[in-house]
Amino acid sequence: MLRASLLAAARSTRMRSLVEAVPVTRSVVERFVAGAATPDAVRVVRELTADGRRVTLDHLGEDTTDTTQAARTAEAYSALLGALSGEGLAAGADVSVKLSAVGQFLPVDGEKVALENARKICVAAADAGATVTLDMEDHTTTDSTLGILRELRVDFPWVGAVLQAYLARTEADCVDLSGPGSRVRLCKGAYAEPASVAYQDKSEVDKSYVRCLGVLMRGKGYPMVASHDPRMIAIAEHLVVDSGRKADDHEFQMLYGIRPDEQRRIAADGAAMRVYVPYGDEWYGYFMRRLAERPANMTFFLRGLATK
Ligand code: FAD
Repeated sequence: MLRASLLAAARSTRMRSLVEAVPVTRSVVERFVAGAATPDAVRVVRELTADGRRVTLDHLGEDTTDTTQAARTAEAYSALLGALSGEGLAAGADVSVKLSAVGQFLPVDGEKVALENARKICVAAADAGATVTLDMEDHTTTDSTLGILRELRVDFPWVGAVLQAYLARTEADCVDLSGPGSRVRLCKGAYAEPASVAYQDKSEVDKSYVRCLGVLMRGKGYPMVASHDPRMIAIAEHLVVDSGRKADDHEFQMLYGIRPDEQRRIAADGAAMRVYVPYGDEWYGYFMRRLAERPANMTFFLRGLATK
């Protein structure tokens, strides 16, 4: 119930102005977001990579209906990749791109514009020695996002995608995307989805996650295990052994600010551990999804309010 309300609020402009006006919000947001500008992102990348963690960076923003804003987002990614290159931090880095931030929802030619902007980001990533992963948004965008992925992979075969275990279709998508060269980040899914397309029960989502993980681990691609859930991580570690995978042909991923000790534990054990680092001003939707995910995050926020 709370999750559904918070996810609905994540898309409400009225709630957005209310939450952004609360004085304590900024300090809570800082726990999950690297900062507002490119130098903030670069600083956090330097800190994380110093102890062996890898990074994927998200220039925050989504659902734009403005062509200029979509182009600006693509430029921001290019600038970021240039800044990381300049600091010797780009090789092996990844950027996570929401297609709705680069034009997918524009009223005219949205998919075409998103593809063109995503291509520009891929060119900048290729120049920097980095990779690109397409984030997955709500289920109405899944076919469009996978279609754009296919187009991008013709020229940039290393572009990765995200699949969400809460969707009933995802096991089949995992089969489709388990071929050689395919990079798939498997997560549980962060949006409010109807029962017609998504498992509603947490245990059903977890079972789906394990089935999907099995498909990806037995496949020929590069699985990216994105979860903070100790059970999912333990199962993934078993599947790595069972399927004979080596340290360089899969990775674990977590969000910035969440379970940092476990992130360091995984990296110290010799596995690849990548941290998803969001930065920028447009933190509202991302922040609300983090609150929805975990009541403890909400408590942390409310406690901050009470002490103000
Ligand atoms: P949950 O089911 O939320 O939690 C299970 C258990 O994990 C908890 O009981 C607890 O033991 C532990 N845990 C979870 N959070 C915490 C915490 N804050 N502190 C301590 N323990 C905790 N979603 C999308 O829809 N699209 C995307 O493109 C996308 N990209 C992502 C990229 C990355 C790298 C990651 C990590 C997640 C991404 N997500 C994305 C979000 C994802 O779908 C989930 O909403 C989110 O990861 C929460 O699910 P979970 O697997 O961590 O476990």
